[in-house]
Amino acid sequence: MAEIETKSPSNFIKMIIDEDLKAGKNESRVATRFPPEPNGYLHIGHAKSICLNFGLAKEYEGTCNLRFDDTNPVKEDVEYVESIKEDVRWLGFDWEAREYYASDYFEQLYHLAIRLIKDGKAYVDSLSADEIREFRGTLTEPGKESPYRNRSVEENLDLFQRMRDGEFEDGRHVLRAKIDMAHPNLLLRDPTLYRIRKTAHHRTGDQWCIYPMYDYTHCISDAIECITHSICTLEFENNRALYDWVLEQLGLPCRPRQYEFARLNLNYTVLSKRKLIQLVTENRVSGWDDPRMPTISGLRRRGFTPESIRTFCERIGVAKANSIVDIALLEHTIREDLNKSAPRMMAVLRPLKVVIENYPEDKVELLEAVNNPEDPAAGTRQVPFSREIYIEQEDFMEDPPKKYFRLAPGREVRLRYAYFITCKEVIKDPANGRIVELRCTYDPATRGGDAPDGRKVKATLHWVSAAQAVGAQVRLYDRLFVKPDPDEKVEGKTFLDFINPNSLEVLNDCKLEPALAQAAPGRMFQFERLGYFFADPKECAAGRLVFNRTVTLKDSWARIAQNG
Ligand code: ATP
Ligand code: MG
Repeated sequence: MAEIETKSPSNFIKMIIDEDLKAGKNESRVATRFPPEPNGYLHIGHAKSICLNFGLAKEYEGTCNLRFDDTNPVKEDVEYVESIKEDVRWLGFDWEAREYYASDYFEQLYHLAIRLIKDGKAYVDSLSADEIREFRGTLTEPGKESPYRNRSVEENLDLFQRMRDGEFEDGRHVLRAKIDMAHPNLLLRDPTLYRIRKTAHHRTGDQWCIYPMYDYTHCISDAIECITHSICTLEFENNRALYDWVLEQLGLPCRPRQYEFARLNLNYTVLSKRKLIQLVTENRVSGWDDPRMPTISGLRRRGFTPESIRTFCERIGVAKANSIVDIALLEHTIREDLNKSAPRMMAVLRPLKVVIENYPEDKVELLEAVNNPEDPAAGTRQVPFSREIYIEQEDFMEDPPKKYFRLAPGREVRLRYAYFITCKEVIKDPANGRIVELRCTYDPATRGGDAPDGRKVKATLHWVSAAQAVGAQVRLYDRLFVKPDPDEKVEGKTFLDFINPNSLEVLNDCKLEPALAQAAPGRMFQFERLGYFFADPKECAAGRLVFNRTVTLKDSWARIAQNG
């Protein structure tokens, strides 16, 4: 694996860490964590957080833990745990032995809750969920105290124990922090710390029927692991006061601090797990790893490399204010990476047969083709040429408009690495008038693609020799949504109404040059003039030759950057 670049541009979090180190805080340690909830697959937004947290640890010679924030048994699953580990590893990061689970702290969390009760900082409330909501008040009105707020410590301890013992049904009681029902920050109006959920947990089984809430669990997990800088997204800015309140009450040996950064938003996509789950469960896509999904597994199957995703995360930077990143930048980044590394090949996606009338019937020539002009070390290969070849349907027009320079009746063009050909005749299907074949002649003096008499042609076409061609399926992927902001509220519509109906086009009759027959699953190629294509790992492993288009060659980002 390529060595991960350790020096990244500065950002406000690095400035905070630099200050802390200068002041000798945290015994000069830097300890971060990446805390996914195993309730879905990771997406490109998570990659930003992974690159940030693991990147900081690497740069400051600290540590980054992988911690599963698994406090909600209803939505979590081991399938997600496994996929998250695979994705973090694939992105190029290593948590070594530091794989932690909030559920491993359930016993400690429980005992710390008892401490809060004993200190008069937490109580068992018996209001219903609706009542609790009603009593909370609003931004302009203070909340009301629950009639159960002043239960004695003994009664609270007894009830909490019995909650744990399974005596009560879901929702009958909750444990709440006793803070301030009139606090301007609504999250501090006696937040819930524990609730009853008679549901088995993917790790602790039936051991627990009370589960701690996120805000209570997260800060304590950070403290148990002696995290120094607990980095999360801006939506948690208001939660920081609660994070600090819990840790201040408990006075644990380590005292982590929370910092918030702007989450990644990308246009033409959705990054909410709830919406991604919906796309999968409603079969709008073929699964979590559908190449149109913004998930790490989808991007991997589309042909993205870990390097390109890390580069992208570095380029977008780490800021304090939310913004929307243009998906063209992500496409630009992968294109730049593949341009350097992907071997060039010839493939015809929508074949049109061409018969070269003056070329000998049984002759097959091997012509030399360059594997990668960006990488001389990649060398050359031999491509067969014969009397019958395929070109792209769109490279011929019977009645071309002014600016169309490709093949047309009577016109001469170059076949890449081969000869000049001239179109003599167009053969049509008498039943429907569709063009089925072209009759051409070639000029034997132009072998290799140049005319000795210096005459020029205005187009060079790619082609594949018919007899040696291998058939393949090629899937053309495009953006999943037609609208830059599919989440935008539109009367009577949801994000599902903006799915791009042309986000997938499957071509079953593609013709590839024979060197691609052995395309190993997971290998990447540039099909000349068409884009970058990835040998689908699943399909190719099952013996089918299937390629996914990663990106086209058209770089709209470079254009924006140039004109910008
Ligand atoms: P949920 O809605 O289920 O909470 P989530 O996207 O916040 O979804 P988590 O598993 O809680 O998922 O996220 C793990 C970490 O990744 C968190 O620290 C979160 O802040 C970060 N993260 C999630 N989405 C993004 C994003 N779009 N950009 C940057 N970081 C993100
Ligand atoms: Mg979250």
